[in-house]
Amino acid sequence: MEQEFSMTTQAEFKVKNPIDWVTTIFLLTSPLVGIFGTLYVALYETIHLGTWALFLFYFFATGMGITVGYHRLFSHKAYEAKSPIKLLLLLFGAAAFQSTALEWSEDHRIHHKFVDTDKDPYSIKKGFWYAHIGWLFRKRNYVQQGVQDLASDPLVLWQHKHFYSISIFMCFILPGLITMLWGSFLEGFFVAGFLRLFVVHQFTFFINSACHVWGERTFSKEQTARDNWVIAFFTFGEGFHNFHHEFQMDYRNGIRWYDYDPSKWMIKFLSFFGLTYNLKKVSEEKILQKTMFIKEKETLHQFANLGEEKLKTWSEQLAHLRETAIAEFQKWSKAKQTANEKEAVVSKEKFETTKENWEKLLSQPLFF
Ligand SMILES: [Zn+2]
Ligand SMILES: [Zn+2]
Repeated sequence: MEQEFSMTTQAEFKVKNPIDWVTTIFLLTSPLVGIFGTLYVALYETIHLGTWALFLFYFFATGMGITVGYHRLFSHKAYEAKSPIKLLLLLFGAAAFQSTALEWSEDHRIHHKFVDTDKDPYSIKKGFWYAHIGWLFRKRNYVQQGVQDLASDPLVLWQHKHFYSISIFMCFILPGLITMLWGSFLEGFFVAGFLRLFVVHQFTFFINSACHVWGERTFSKEQTARDNWVIAFFTFGEGFHNFHHEFQMDYRNGIRWYDYDPSKWMIKFLSFFGLTYNLKKVSEEKILQKTMFIKEKETLHQFANLGEEKLKTWSEQLAHLRETAIAEFQKWSKAKQTANEKEAVVSKEKFETTKENWEKLLSQPLFF
């Protein structure tokens, strides 16, 4: 799946996508404004604790405006949301200054469709820094591909049309007005505005860079996306990116209950009040099937020197056990749904024993 970017492709790309000076200058100077602005305020007054609380609130609200809103709701339609929630996500998403929900989703859908190829807008194959921030320094050269559903959403269109006034107000002015309640306008403007924006930018950019470089590939080996809980901590739960690329319609990225995925928790929490609904989840059986298959393929590949005949016998026996385990798992799920307790106990036990045998066989290559 390695994709080389030839000189011609690169040259063509530079012509089609000239440097976007406004974005480039903004992305390079806004961190400095955040850092030095905060230092400037700190020189003249003690920054109020409330301002730091607002910084934290804005950090989560705008970061999750992107992950819960732009990403899981608008790009992937992994769940549906009532209008007030949609509006809040669009307002705080705009305060993360990452373009409109419409354009963001368009880039992101193309990223999934063409991941790791030269059509991927932030392909990791073009380098870590390109995927992280470099791609933003160039103008986009496509207009509304595959986002017709969003283009007909009045709220999304409203945000798209008035993006700059909404984002400038939500990102810089509103925090300033809030901190005027206990201090100066500049506290909110620099600390919860620019400094917070710098942190949110870098953390969300990690999803396109770090999440495609470091971590495990448990659910799919066909592309570069990885699962990494450390990165999940900095990306509002998006660090489980391998799972996400394989099952992009799932509203969760971290599937185990303890996986740090505040975006998933927020979507679920709002669903208790009917504010979000139709939460999509891939079946456990599909996940099991995929993980067992990948583990098997990987182990067989490691012992390729066993010889064709031995490998064939081993792989046939493994496949048989895997299929039996999945069939028992299906029976168990069905029995649970129909509240057939007796059947559930039997099939659960059969599933567990078969899976254990499969694991044993997987760890005994020398047996052949
Ligand atoms: Zn990705
Ligand atoms: Zn995605």
